[in-house]
Amino acid sequence: MKALVFHKIGDVSVDSVPDPIIEEPRDSIIRVTSTAICGSDLHIYDGFVPQMEDMVLGHEFMGIVEEVGSGVTNLKKGDRVVVPFPIACGHCFFCSNSWPTQCENSNSKYGPDGGFADQKGAALFGYTDLYGGIAGGQAEYVRVPYSDFGPRKVPEGLTDEQVLFLTDIFPTGWAAADWGRIKGGETVAIFGAGPVGIMAAKSAWLMGAGRVINIDIQPYRLDMARQSANSETLLWESEDQVVEYIRSITEGRGADVCIDAVGMEADRNFLEKAKAVINLEKGTPKVLETCLRAVRRAGVVSVVGVYGSPFDNFPIYRWFDKGVTLMGTQAPVQHYIDHLMQLVVDGKVRLDDIITHTLPLAQAPHGYDIFKKKEDNCVKVVLKP
Ligand code: NAD
Ligand code: ZN
Ligand code: ZN
Repeated sequence: MKALVFHKIGDVSVDSVPDPIIEEPRDSIIRVTSTAICGSDLHIYDGFVPQMEDMVLGHEFMGIVEEVGSGVTNLKKGDRVVVPFPIACGHCFFCSNSWPTQCENSNSKYGPDGGFADQKGAALFGYTDLYGGIAGGQAEYVRVPYSDFGPRKVPEGLTDEQVLFLTDIFPTGWAAADWGRIKGGETVAIFGAGPVGIMAAKSAWLMGAGRVINIDIQPYRLDMARQSANSETLLWESEDQVVEYIRSITEGRGADVCIDAVGMEADRNFLEKAKAVINLEKGTPKVLETCLRAVRRAGVVSVVGVYGSPFDNFPIYRWFDKGVTLMGTQAPVQHYIDHLMQLVVDGKVRLDDIITHTLPLAQAPHGYDIFKKKEDNCVKVVLKP
C-alpha cells in the first residue's frame, strides 16, 4: 500500500510499504477514507519528538473496517468508523478512570531511559517509537490495536469531513476547555488559532464562556478563528503586549482561563526553533510562561500544546505564587468522543469549516510543507488515500 513515511527531520515522502495485518485478537484493519495532518505531526517533522527510523505518520483518521481480529465483536467488515488517536486497553486502572491516555497496558515503549517519562503511558498512532512505534493512518490501510475500545461507528448521513476531527482536535480543544472548569461567563484566552486553538474556542463557547479570545502570530489564522469560532482575536507581538491586553480587558486581574494551544512551535533550524518558543535568557517555554502571566490569580492554565523534554525548565514561581491550577496532557479522546459525536449529530457544532486544503495522499508532503510554513492560508489539511 501507499503511506506517508517520515524519514528524517523535514523529510517525508509517500512510499510503498507492506500492508498491515491482524497481529492480535483485538486488532482490526481499517481502509482509510480521510486522514488529517496535525500540529503534533509537525513536532516529529521538526525533530522535537525524535524518531530514528522510518515510520508511517498520522493519528487523525477514519475509514471502513476491512477485517477484524477474533476478539473483536463490536465491529464488522464494512462498518464506517472514526478512530481516537490514543491507543488504550479499556480495562486498566487508568482506562477505567477516564484516562485512556495514561493506559498502562498500551504498547508505549516509555521506560526509565526513554527520555520522556519513567512510567508507561498510552501509545499513539504514528507517533514515534517513544509512543509505541505503531504505524499511523496517513496511509491506505492501518492496523488498529484494541479496536473494541477506540473506534466509534459514524451515524448515517454524516460526511467524513463532519466527523473526522472527533479523532483528535475537537476532543483536544474540548479537554482544554473542560480542564479550565468553564461554568459560565468566564474570560478564556486561547494561545494559538490553529486547528486546536479554534476547536478550544468552539468548546469554550459551548460550555458557556463569556469572552473567548484567540491569540496568534498569523493574521490569517485569526481571521479563521473569527469566522469559524466567533472569537475575539489578538495578534501576538510580544509577551508584555499580550499580558497587558488581557489584563486591560479583565479589570487588571487576568483571564479566568488561559489555554496553551501552541506547544513546541518552530523553525527547522534548532536554534531558530528554540528562539521561537523558548525564552533563551530564562530557558522557559514562552507561550506557557505568558499563559501563567496572563491568567488571573487562582485561575486555570490548561495546556494542550505538546511539550517535550527540551522544555523542562518550567516557570514554577509564577505558578506557585498565583495559585494557578495547571493541567495538561494528551487528550483522553475516548472519554469525550460519544458526547461530542452527539453534539455534531445534533448540529450544535460544526467541525469541517476549518479545512482549507483537501489533497490526495500522494500530495501529503506538499501538505506538510504548507501546513508547516503557514503558507497558502493553510489551516487544516485533509488527505484522501
Ligand atoms: P498548528 O501548528 O496548526 O497551530 C499552532 C499555532 O500556534 C499556529 O497558528 C501558530 O501561528 C501559533 N503560534 C506560534 N507561536 C505563537 C505564539 N508565540 N503565540 C501565539 N500563537 C503562536 O497546530 P495545531 O494542530 O493547532 O496544534 C497545536 C498544538 O496542539 C500543537 O502543539 C499540537 O502538538 C498540540 N496538540 C495536542 C493534542 C493533545 O492531545 N494534547 C492533540 C492535538 C494537538
Ligand atoms: Zn493530532
Ligand atoms: Zn488501559
